[in-house]
Amino acid sequence: MPRKIIHVDMDAFFAAIEQRDRPSLRGRPVVVGGDPEQRGVVAAASYEARDYGIRSAMPTAEARRRCAQLAIIPADHEKYRRVSAQVMALLREYTPLVEPLSVDEAFLDVTGSVRLFGSARRIGEQIRQRIWETLQLTASVGIARNKFVAKLASLQAKPDGLLEIRADRVLEFLVPLPVEALWGVGETTASRLRQLGFTTIGQLQRCPLERLAAEFGKHGRDLYSLARGLDESPVQPGRERKSLSHEQTFAEDTDDGEFLEATLLALSEQVGRRLRAHELKGRTITLKVRYADFRTITRSKTLPRPTDSDKQIYESARALLAAAGRGGRKVRLLGVGVSHFDVGEQLRLLPEDSSDGSAVDRAIDEVRERFGPGSVRRARLVDEGTAEEDR
Ligand SMILES: [Mg+2]
Repeated sequence: MPRKIIHVDMDAFFAAIEQRDRPSLRGRPVVVGGDPEQRGVVAAASYEARDYGIRSAMPTAEARRRCAQLAIIPADHEKYRRVSAQVMALLREYTPLVEPLSVDEAFLDVTGSVRLFGSARRIGEQIRQRIWETLQLTASVGIARNKFVAKLASLQAKPDGLLEIRADRVLEFLVPLPVEALWGVGETTASRLRQLGFTTIGQLQRCPLERLAAEFGKHGRDLYSLARGLDESPVQPGRERKSLSHEQTFAEDTDDGEFLEATLLALSEQVGRRLRAHELKGRTITLKVRYADFRTITRSKTLPRPTDSDKQIYESARALLAAAGRGGRKVRLLGVGVSHFDVGEQLRLLPEDSSDGSAVDRAIDEVRERFGPGSVRRARLVDEGTAEEDR
């Protein structure tokens, strides 16, 4: 039986929540993001702001240049997470097969739900209506036989719309889209595809499998299938959180090694604290470095055992930074992430190895819980308050 997949994507999520909660912002260009004086970036832009060409990840200073009357609201991630939980709970009323992709979007496999709730389109319409009635927010919905096409459909439906792509319309729906719309096609693959004369998915549809396999190896087969709208990947409800990260943009570009290491420690502590709060341990530590010229690199290291220890995260991140060969270049942004979670690892019955500092971490978490985040700082972090978090 063909599957019925729904992709739900909240419209301008953070900005829409702020407009909902502050009526004076409604109908106005609004971004949620960091202080322009501190080189903050846009986390979300309202549709009114998008009319000025303002986009996510743009520096807020640039956004304000484009629109003088822009309202810049600091992010309240706690609130967004609460609203996100409300959205996900509502979606789970239609099927247990809900796979959140981020705070504001999710896939649903409703193949088994249609007998109870009506067609996938009926379910999509109900979801949109109930999100509006209960949360006063709009969502866009894409419906197809697989995740890949459903996600492209919701994007096309935005804002505040619903689009169903039936099986016999998939090929023509994909024809005009750029090759970048294909999963797994980043900048490198896209530029190679363009060199070969493929700018749109329609052009790629005419390329034989043998040629794609010769050019791209195993990845060529994926390109061939996706260009035809074929995707068998299942909706995976367990994959709620795939990685956890923090990053900081500096008020000024810096090549001060001590300062960079202190920032890595602060970021590692933030990531470690959230890992422990979510009872997660991860095996892969990722460092992100954006240089003054905006070139960005990421470097990862996989540990033999999963960790939630600030010290282990920090030491891995520091080693990655040293190995990255910065060569005196100035740095604009640093990020630290942990991924590759091992949930089973939590249940191990072996005594905790205290040499990784985890007992200390937990004690610090408890004090911070009671007295606020600034109450305990390790000696190195004192006087390092100039860097601003922008996520
Ligand atoms: Mg969204």
